[in-house]
Amino acid sequence: MSFSRSLVAALALCAPGIATAALGSPSHHRPRNVILISLDTLRADRVGAYGHAGGLTPTLDALAARGTRFADASSTSAWTSPAHASLFTGLYPSRLGLVAYRGLESAEVLGEAHTTLAEVLRARGWQTRVLTGGNFVAARLGFGQGFEAYDDWAWRFGEHEKGLQEFLAGRDRGRPFLLFLHGYDAHHPYEAEPDLARRHYGQYGGSYDVARFCREDPPAAGPDLDYVKARYDAAVATADRSLGRLLAMIDADGTLAESLVIAVSDHGEEFYEHGGCDHVDRMYQEVVQVPLLIAGPGVPAGRVVRAPVSLVDVMPTVLDALGLSRLPGDGRSLWPDLGGRRAAERTLLVESGRDDAVLRAVRRLALKLHVGATGRPGPLFDLSRDPGEREDLAGSRPALVQRLLAEVAGRAVAPAERIPLDPGLRERLKALGYIQ
Ligand SMILES: [Zn+2]
Repeated sequence: MSFSRSLVAALALCAPGIATAALGSPSHHRPRNVILISLDTLRADRVGAYGHAGGLTPTLDALAARGTRFADASSTSAWTSPAHASLFTGLYPSRLGLVAYRGLESAEVLGEAHTTLAEVLRARGWQTRVLTGGNFVAARLGFGQGFEAYDDWAWRFGEHEKGLQEFLAGRDRGRPFLLFLHGYDAHHPYEAEPDLARRHYGQYGGSYDVARFCREDPPAAGPDLDYVKARYDAAVATADRSLGRLLAMIDADGTLAESLVIAVSDHGEEFYEHGGCDHVDRMYQEVVQVPLLIAGPGVPAGRVVRAPVSLVDVMPTVLDALGLSRLPGDGRSLWPDLGGRRAAERTLLVESGRDDAVLRAVRRLALKLHVGATGRPGPLFDLSRDPGEREDLAGSRPALVQRLLAEVAGRAVAPAERIPLDPGLRERLKALGYIQ
């Protein structure tokens, strides 16, 4: 895996061996390793620590209890590739040129010119390893940059156990590591371990084929829609249980306690809350709000940070936590937030779309403006009193709409290489429920 040219420039900003104490750090204890976990398609509202009462996520809830929970975290996109690109680089999708879902024919690549967290840490001596479901975060789409090894054949967390065992057994114990764990467990078609399937939808007596959900008309409704949602819940519970097994393996290896553990999702999922299903095409909170949990050395236990934060903040946070210099980017370090510092007000962006139509959402504190593909303003919501995005305030707050619109006016999508998807990847994506 070649390093980007910009990495050389980026590292020039970091004096060799620099490990300055980050201002506002909550503790002098620094983590040694980094475990970055992405639970694909996990809505924040299905996580117990975020208020769900169904007991779906004991692993994540335990992580929240021993770490800090960010109550208002947004993805940077409504689908997998751009969200992970932001997670890896600290840059918004439009800056990466990686915004649009283009079906199964082609996809934009995370360009070599961009510096990833893995590249920075590998250049500093970290071992870097990925266990991912691949697909739209596949190495061939540029997501392998900086990783010494990139396993992208197994879709679900449960299938990563062998790879994790091999990594833990074979790694150089003299060096710290970055481990990226990613699973599509909660993604359509919502498959679950048998006991969880029985618990969540064993009573369903209908004949709805979940493979049709959001793929074939008419939309699921009534008991069939309840069944689809129950399948999703069971898939979420399966993701959490399987992740728990992986974390137990890391704990048994003796390395969990010295690791910074960050658990996030790349986006949520819609079940017709606003007339749509799946993800990609709408920017409502059921798709945009994601869980963000951070635990490990130096991270306060049981703390909740309520400031709006974004996936672009993860990379600067990790660098800060490790005492490494931050790179220029769209995010900010959340490490001071862990110490209780109140962050300055700022604007957050979400960018998604299909083909060349770019949809956006602009967040300023609790205010959220949807912006259509034409660049025209859509509805405006105040999430502090209307978290379900029901009451459109755009008509009564025209000046505010213009102010938020100005944040994205003229914002172009950077050019990026686009490659055709090979037939093998296309078949995998079809099996995972992706359609044209
Ligand atoms: Zn995804």
